[in-house]
Amino acid sequence: MIEIDPERLLSDLESLRSFGSVGNGVVRTAFSDVDMKSRRWLVDKLAAAGLQASIDGVGNVIARSEYCSRALLVGSHSDTQPTGGWLDGALGVIYGLEITRAYREAGGIPGVGIDVASWMDEEGTHFSSIGSRSFCGEFTDAELMDSPNIAGERMGALLRHVGLGGVPRSIMDQDRYLGYLEAHIEQGPFLEQAGLRIGVVTSIVGVRNFVIHFHGSQNHAGTTPMALRRDAGVAAIHAAHDLDHLLARSARAATVWTFGDIRFQPGAVSIVPGEAQVRLQVRDADEEFLDSVTRGLEAHIEELGRSSDVGIELESLHDSVHAITMDDRMQRYCVDAAESRAPGKWMSMQSGAAHDAQILATKLPSGMIFVPSIGGISHDFAEDTAEDDIVLGCQVMAAAAEAIMQDAANR
Ligand SMILES: [Zn+2]
Repeated sequence: MIEIDPERLLSDLESLRSFGSVGNGVVRTAFSDVDMKSRRWLVDKLAAAGLQASIDGVGNVIARSEYCSRALLVGSHSDTQPTGGWLDGALGVIYGLEITRAYREAGGIPGVGIDVASWMDEEGTHFSSIGSRSFCGEFTDAELMDSPNIAGERMGALLRHVGLGGVPRSIMDQDRYLGYLEAHIEQGPFLEQAGLRIGVVTSIVGVRNFVIHFHGSQNHAGTTPMALRRDAGVAAIHAAHDLDHLLARSARAATVWTFGDIRFQPGAVSIVPGEAQVRLQVRDADEEFLDSVTRGLEAHIEELGRSSDVGIELESLHDSVHAITMDDRMQRYCVDAAESRAPGKWMSMQSGAAHDAQILATKLPSGMIFVPSIGGISHDFAEDTAEDDIVLGCQVMAAAAEAIMQDAANR
């Protein structure tokens, strides 16, 4: 049986935390100096654990078990939000490291191994989940180099800047993998509220991003009578209010939506805004429902546009992420492992946050487990998880990994 070493696990998590540590949190955005440094540290740790480890051409740390033709892939991401928590992503990466070591110490199973990955830029500092997308073969070298990052710079220039120019990318050999397992902090309040310690993920919600554009007339805020204004700002406020009610009426129980950003041009107290944009994001686990929400928004915006002298248009952004259902068998392995290590203390649940597993699940049978986030806080310096839960999560993950590999070896 794989028995992980809790002290070693916690100590490695602390070591990774030291890269970019600020107070209780971590600032280790993708491709930053400290991110690249932490990746080199991780390569050394994985190599010391007996794996063939390196940083690939897009910044993924990929560590392969040698002398085996089949492997379970385990991983997560080690980049953070601009002001991130210390466990978001890091937890699943260090679980991979610890489980590999423990597996090796337990003697291993002939012909079957564990590969570990730390994916690049899950948090989307430059290009959301570029690492796992690259590994899953979503683009050619030329497409990657040519792709703009969020700031509009070519990814090729960024990769050269961090020393990855000409370094080959690691692309998934699908025949090698038994599946993909990822552990993550829950980043929400449900486990804590239920008094439970492990979540087995059933599905990961899809995300639709929109920008609503308002075109009015810019003018003087003191001399323009109210009746003569074409105020893009007020139109934006009213529309956001309307759409919030529309979404509340059509939402399913777990649908969430956010008006995360609103901008007025030129954005001064004495100017009637000529232009405005509102950003809206909707998340739900049902793709068909998300499509129907999109159609409902389109119809409503069209209607608003007809009754207003401010021009209004809805832009559906291309960075939408599709909802994914986790593989049944992988869920079963996670459930059995949770029940054996934490009887009665786990539940099945959907993930409201996006994860690399969402990308990997398009190619491999994938499973995910969650550990509780204290106070449901994440993407914040205050993010934390009880030590006991961190250790338990790794034990559950190790048990699931062992069962998957054992069954594969017996087949
Ligand atoms: Zn994460």
